[in-house]
Amino acid sequence: MDSKALNMNDSIALQGTTVFVAGAGIMGAGIAQVAAQAGHPVRLFDTRSGAAAAAKGKLASTLDGLVAKGRLAAESAQQALARIEPVDTLAQAAGAGLVVEAIVEQLDAKRALFAELEALLDDSAVLATNTSSISVTAIAKGLQRPGRVVGMHFFNPVPLMKLVEVVSGLQTDPVVAAAIFDLSRTWGKVPVHAKSTPGFIVNRIARPYYAEALALLQEGAATPPVLDAALRGAGFRMGPCELMDLIGHDTNFAVTKSVFEANFFDKRYQPSIVQAEMVAGGLLGRKTAHGFFRYRDGKPEDAGLPVALHEAPATAREVTVHGRGAIADHLEQAATAALAAQGWGPARLPDSDWTGLAIDGTRLVLTAGQTAAELAAGQARREVAVFDRPVGITTGSPPAPGTALSFAVAEGCPATWPAQAAAWLAALGFAPLPVADTPGLVVARTVAMLINEAADAVQQGVCNEAGADAAMKLGVNYPAGPFDFLRGWSAAEVVALLDTLDQHYRGERYRVSPLLRRRAT
Ligand code: NAD
Repeated sequence: MDSKALNMNDSIALQGTTVFVAGAGIMGAGIAQVAAQAGHPVRLFDTRSGAAAAAKGKLASTLDGLVAKGRLAAESAQQALARIEPVDTLAQAAGAGLVVEAIVEQLDAKRALFAELEALLDDSAVLATNTSSISVTAIAKGLQRPGRVVGMHFFNPVPLMKLVEVVSGLQTDPVVAAAIFDLSRTWGKVPVHAKSTPGFIVNRIARPYYAEALALLQEGAATPPVLDAALRGAGFRMGPCELMDLIGHDTNFAVTKSVFEANFFDKRYQPSIVQAEMVAGGLLGRKTAHGFFRYRDGKPEDAGLPVALHEAPATAREVTVHGRGAIADHLEQAATAALAAQGWGPARLPDSDWTGLAIDGTRLVLTAGQTAAELAAGQARREVAVFDRPVGITTGSPPAPGTALSFAVAEGCPATWPAQAAAWLAALGFAPLPVADTPGLVVARTVAMLINEAADAVQQGVCNEAGADAAMKLGVNYPAGPFDFLRGWSAAEVVALLDTLDQHYRGERYRVSPLLRRRAT
């Protein structure tokens, strides 16, 4: 069959086909396991002599482990293992309907491999690449049948991570992408279509999660344990600093650099000198027992959190909750509970241009981007604090008592105010984390930037909104997708916050996505 004969009406049946996995490293072994468990005969190939057989040996103990834990029937494990055949030559790909390559991350190597393979395979065979950073369009260049090349981007560890980005290059036949999408489902995965662009979906949208933390570190706004606690408080499973330590700063820095370079040095993606210095010094994270944190026997040494000094809040005469929406409602409930012992409750002013609490003449303000100093500038009193956005309230996971929340006070405020502000946040049920008076604090600016990056990805046709949400929840375990966060916020407020950051820092990093700005008006 000639590839030109394929059209949108053709469909490709990959169910049960022989899968040739090239590269028997971490990813290739995982892909072989998943394909074999889904019932495919699998041939596993590696240029390193003995590597494929060794990978099969390791898989045998992995499957035994699953049987021992009762997660897999002994018979299924045996059958899956029997389906995997380590092979020594590329010629043994003949007859396979699908190749998944997980070899070294080099364009020339991947192109050469596919060129050799397409000469051995039927015209109908699909060539899937597990590349995490190389253009699928570029890998297909020069091949006889570029329409058969598609990205099948798994996440590590393959058997556990549900996401597969199905990446189409410029010449990928839509029927091929559809077939890989359907096949991924039968392998128990959640596939998401993506266009071949730098970082695809996850590695692109996730950049600000690291970049904002690195920017805050560079300006000395907070320490790694504070940043981590703030983002864990927002529901992220790992804070950005501990996560970069886990990924390895060399790997994380390389991905950031590749996205930056592939975007023609768009400053939006500029790598951080904080991380460059760590890479240069070999402080790579867990693997070198030293990154942002030090590790002993694989466990981080306690870095300790600064505790905000707070005593019981001074008795107030008047407390008013400003603003409307879920966060203001939550604050009203919390303030009502906190004041109940004194026998009175807060007033409510829904038609206010800010959200937070007015306590006598002082203010605790939910960040909208302005610093405490800017907010205090127009006030008679400098007792103003800004606090971070408790995003869980708007995504259906209200913060448990004692959830970390960052806050900042204006420079030059009365000496007693930081402790007073912290005391009020504690009375409202949060664990207050003091940070420098920086715009958008920690969570609000990070989540706004994740939303902004996702909005650009959607605007540019890289994926749709549901795809972006699924990708971030399943590929990097975010507590909510970027558009889930946006639904609990408002495009106008996110744009206002980003514009404030843009005015503050000047440059390209906080450039608002046209899609978001359109939605805001
Ligand atoms: P790895 O180093 O563990 O394994 C790569 C294997 O490929 C090695 O065993 C090597 O001997 C073999 N190899 C190299 N050139 C080959 C060739 N021409 N033919 C056959 N085998 C060859 O690497 P990995 O982490 O498994 O990554 C493999 C691919 O998957 C890369 O493209 C990487 O970007 C991508 N990826 C990795 C991850 C991850 O977290 N490790 C996640 C997603 C995608």
